[in-house]
Amino acid sequence: MASQAAFDLVVIGAGPGGYVAALRAAELGLRTALVERCSQLGGTCLRVGCIPSKTLLSSTEAYVHARDRLSQNGIMANGFGIDLPQLQAHKEAVVEKLAKGISFLMRQNGVHVWEGTARVAGPHAVAVRGAEGEEILETRAILLATGSEPAELPFLPFDQKLVVDSTEALSFREVPKRLLIIGAGAIGLELGSVWSRLGSEVIVVERLPRIAAGFSPIVARVLQQELEKQRMQFLLGARVAGAEIGEASVTVRAEERGKERTLTAERALVAVGRRPHHADLALVEAGIHLTESGRVAVNRFWQTSLPSIYAIGDLIEGPMLAHRAQAEGRAVAELLAGRPARVRYRNIPNVIYTEPEVACVGFLEEDLRVAKRPYRRGIAYFQANGRALAADTPHGFVTVWMDELSGKLAGMEIVGSRASELIGAGVVALETGATVESLAQAVPAHPSLMESVHEAALAALGARRSDGRP
Ligand code: FAD
Ligand code: NAD
Repeated sequence: MASQAAFDLVVIGAGPGGYVAALRAAELGLRTALVERCSQLGGTCLRVGCIPSKTLLSSTEAYVHARDRLSQNGIMANGFGIDLPQLQAHKEAVVEKLAKGISFLMRQNGVHVWEGTARVAGPHAVAVRGAEGEEILETRAILLATGSEPAELPFLPFDQKLVVDSTEALSFREVPKRLLIIGAGAIGLELGSVWSRLGSEVIVVERLPRIAAGFSPIVARVLQQELEKQRMQFLLGARVAGAEIGEASVTVRAEERGKERTLTAERALVAVGRRPHHADLALVEAGIHLTESGRVAVNRFWQTSLPSIYAIGDLIEGPMLAHRAQAEGRAVAELLAGRPARVRYRNIPNVIYTEPEVACVGFLEEDLRVAKRPYRRGIAYFQANGRALAADTPHGFVTVWMDELSGKLAGMEIVGSRASELIGAGVVALETGATVESLAQAVPAHPSLMESVHEAALAALGARRSDGRP
């Protein structure tokens, strides 16, 4: 069957993993098809994730800056207000423009796009159910890239009116007076920021004793303090024990250090993580194995238990990040074209786009301690950075960790404005195996936020060893 197959690769799911894989495969000369159940390409990330959330974050950041800060900079502007329908229309226009761009790229590169719901019909066959009925696509290889969906709490099921997921919380048509958010991860903090900036009283309930797991405790504390200044409230170390849904409000019972707290709000956003989406794929029937947590099991070449079938992105184990899915999609396309490919997972950055932003890559201090790797640490504060002060964003700092034995960069973490952009320096340094000496040698523009990365590198070179030796 494989020799007569119409395609070399059929990709299921047009999110950042799937569309990047399809594009790269076509560029490398593979006959490629892309199946997507939604009419708009781009997946969770483009339709209801990264892009709409960042558009709302940018718009509301500009609004708060204009409302609270411009007058002290000597810019007098009156009549500030919110036109929520226009804010949402702008967000939708950004999504539409990017989705059209992806469709254009597929056409331009000869990727055959099928609109329909796909399932695995064999090691070399995909069944697509679309408006015209079912069609079978025969192929040399299949790539599963069907992503993830919001996880539900059993006692707080989504009704998308009072108890909502992130998709609904991106599209509120009115600012909720009080918004309860369960989960202080990326979604809770980013969407909490959006609605708090627009005037909602936001209360975030988190079962861990801290916010932003995955970042250093000190960075999480700085972020929490800054978000509290923006009037977001946090109930940490609180286990949500039950809930009552009323006519127009939702009441959640949370246990915090043995004490029961009752919180009532107009709406509750459940942001406690996402789970892999493979319900339509008929994986069990096809003989594809899952991991204990229900994700698709793959080897280091992203092959499932059926070697002609690959899986990437949110569907497999690892952090659910668009750029990770893209890197894996590109790598699978390269492998199928007979070229070498790898993804260095340690060099994939993690960012939360609050204000200040937090970003990290590589090893953090705790990782280095656990691995017993001697290191030197350098810190530079934005309050000493001319550009940060000029832009009225003096909060936060850059931390650089240097591997003591090799002198190479081991990791970088930033809390501060535009951390998402600055962390790129750390990503490139790690990927190229650069030393901290070379980060310190590189001359950044003055004034620029990048000077703080440079200063942190200099501080690491001058710092004492972590094990106390000279
Ligand atoms: P997805 O993007 O989920 O795409 C899967 C696609 O498969 C979907 O289009 C779906 O319709 C389609 N599909 C599913 N089943 C079938 C089927 N049987 N047949 C045909 N098609 C099917 N990550 C970041 O890195 N940065 C961010 O700033 C960021 N912000 C986020 C904000 C929010 C609110 C959310 C929810 C997520 C955010 N993420 C962010 C996470 C990011 O969106 C995901 O990690 C990423 O989209 C995963 O890509 P993917 O290709 O694996 O799957
Ligand atoms: P998350 O895993 O990042 O955070 C979920 C939080 O909810 C955790 O802190 C967890 O301890 C808490 N939690 C879980 N159950 C709870 C309960 N019963 N009561 C109270 N707290 C509870 O998940 P998320 O924020 O929903 O995001 C989903 C995925 O989307 C993540 O993998 C994330 O990486 C990705 N995402 C990334 C970005 C970004 O890169 N900027 C933005 C949004 C989403």
